[in-house]
Amino acid sequence: MIKKQNISFKKSFDKAVLESGKALFENGAVTNIKVKDNMYKADIKGVKSFRSQVTIEKGSFVNGSCSCELGKEGKNCQHLAALLYALTQDDPYRPNGYVFKEPDIQAFINSLDKNELLSWLKEALKSDGTLKEKIKEKHFPLDEEYYALWIKRILENCCPEETVTLEQVKELQLRINILLKELTNQVTSPYSSKAGLKTGEEILKKISFLKPEEEAKSSLTLLERSFIPLFEKCLAVSQELTPSALSLVLPLSIDEDMNPSSECLPFLLKCSSLESGRKKLMSFIGQKALKLSKKRTTGKKAFTGKFVQEDYLKKLMDFYLLFGYEEKEFRSIFASFKNKEIYKKTSYQYRQKY
Ligand SMILES: [Zn+2]
Repeated sequence: MIKKQNISFKKSFDKAVLESGKALFENGAVTNIKVKDNMYKADIKGVKSFRSQVTIEKGSFVNGSCSCELGKEGKNCQHLAALLYALTQDDPYRPNGYVFKEPDIQAFINSLDKNELLSWLKEALKSDGTLKEKIKEKHFPLDEEYYALWIKRILENCCPEETVTLEQVKELQLRINILLKELTNQVTSPYSSKAGLKTGEEILKKISFLKPEEEAKSSLTLLERSFIPLFEKCLAVSQELTPSALSLVLPLSIDEDMNPSSECLPFLLKCSSLESGRKKLMSFIGQKALKLSKKRTTGKKAFTGKFVQEDYLKKLMDFYLLFGYEEKEFRSIFASFKNKEIYKKTSYQYRQKY
């Protein structure tokens, strides 16, 4: 606590400013006064809160600053006046001289000996999950080597050859799902999320080299899709996916006929809500639609090309509606369909729906 003092300050303020400063003080707006040498700081709470500080020399107000509009113009505002009233006048409803002394935590920690510090830390760890995560993140990174060896063993035992049968894929599915489950649980921080992503990417890449027998094809696709929860978790924890992870996972989320798989929809929606994922997702779908419409407009049925294009443009539009894209964002992609008539028609329909 500091003693109330006589400070002359009133002649530095306009009368009206002085009065509203006094009212602020009397309403208890001046809080959290701190002092250092001859400088006093406080938070002045009102409809808005401002940070004010004044300098006192030899019993006189010298100058001050405040975060309010007047203060920014360098004028002496009501908040400075309120603080000065708080320093000079008794508030009958508060302890005399109510400067609150901020505890010096640094000094407190320095004063503890090792054992005290340890027991304090153990206690803190019991209730503070963030502290635990910070320690894990810094000192116990996800063991990538362990997972690399695990993947290697699975692949060696499940599919020693490039060509895989349905039975092998099913075994692979079982083994990799166990690994994925553990890996997903380990993803708790942005740090472990990066390592988890890397591991997931690695497995996916390795699987993509496998040549499934005809009947095993759809099972392998299913297996690939089981990576989505891991990527989803990583996305939730770190709010971003690496570009390579995105390019691996996007093709898994949308099938050959441009329909999003229902289990991947939350993932896609999350992607579209992030700046890094949004563009990538949009151009991925756009390119896919373009490719599909080109592929299906060649050959004997080429003459129906116009209609096929229209179909895919409509599908594309549905996607963009679903993910809340604005027309200006996808204009260039629509334009690459090079059929102005269809583009005009579909974008008109889009605007109608929007
Ligand atoms: Zn002010």
